[in-house]
Amino acid sequence: MIRLHAALQQGAKLLEDAGVDAPRLTAEVLLSHAMHVDRAYFYAHPEQELREVEWIHYGRYLHERMRGKPTQYITHKQEFYGRDFVVSPSVLIPRPETEHLIEAALPLVRGVVVDVGAGSGAIAVTLALETNATLIALDVSFDALQVTAENAHRLGAKITPVQCDLLTTFGDASIDMVVSNPPYVAENARDSMQREVRDWEPALALFGGKDGLSIYQRLIPQAWRVLRPGGHLLLELGFDSLPAVQAMIPAPISIHKDLAGIPRVIVCQKA
Ligand code: GLN
Repeated sequence: MIRLHAALQQGAKLLEDAGVDAPRLTAEVLLSHAMHVDRAYFYAHPEQELREVEWIHYGRYLHERMRGKPTQYITHKQEFYGRDFVVSPSVLIPRPETEHLIEAALPLVRGVVVDVGAGSGAIAVTLALETNATLIALDVSFDALQVTAENAHRLGAKITPVQCDLLTTFGDASIDMVVSNPPYVAENARDSMQREVRDWEPALALFGGKDGLSIYQRLIPQAWRVLRPGGHLLLELGFDSLPAVQAMIPAPISIHKDLAGIPRVIVCQKA
């Protein structure tokens, strides 16, 4: 049977030849998933031989990754704000950019907070665990909400998952904060997207109509209706959506940039 160091070398070569980013790291992540060990194990035991069942699982994971499946959908997990979230192809894989939304929300959070399009629950669960606010997690997708609920349960967060279309079921002036990382990719950007994203992540969570703005157009007026006076709206933005989104908001705004300097989060307060 093959030894660990050779299995990693062969896996990394296969991934590299298939054009996968970070082939060595990816091989390590996939083998650690197949063996139920962490990556440090490989450095301590390079000469250990794989068991047959580990070799079979590893081979299957390599094959899936070479076909374009994101590593996180193979291992079913992604770290966000210091915690491991379960992910499935029913939800977007949480991105580090979205941690800026958390940072922007934390100092403003109070009362009842609604996360629109909760997906994995990265935002709602993190805010529930980091603050004492009451978190309601909405998604139009029932499959996504099951992942939201699973993450809340595993991480010990108290949130209320609700299946509905944006904020239509909420009463006027009933909410203290609305947060959302809505689908904001333009349909016509489809061809220029990474295949991992385009072919594997849920289109429902990615695409916001032709120009990427259709969800903002519906969500912002609804948010304005359900927010209490003094309540806050925080939205993640696509790389070029700031001017169009700003124009939809009937209040002064502030902006948080991501590490690449892109305006990534817009914050505003209802008067
Ligand atoms: N950040 C994701 C991407 O560009 C899109 C997320 C979204 O539409 N909210 O891959």
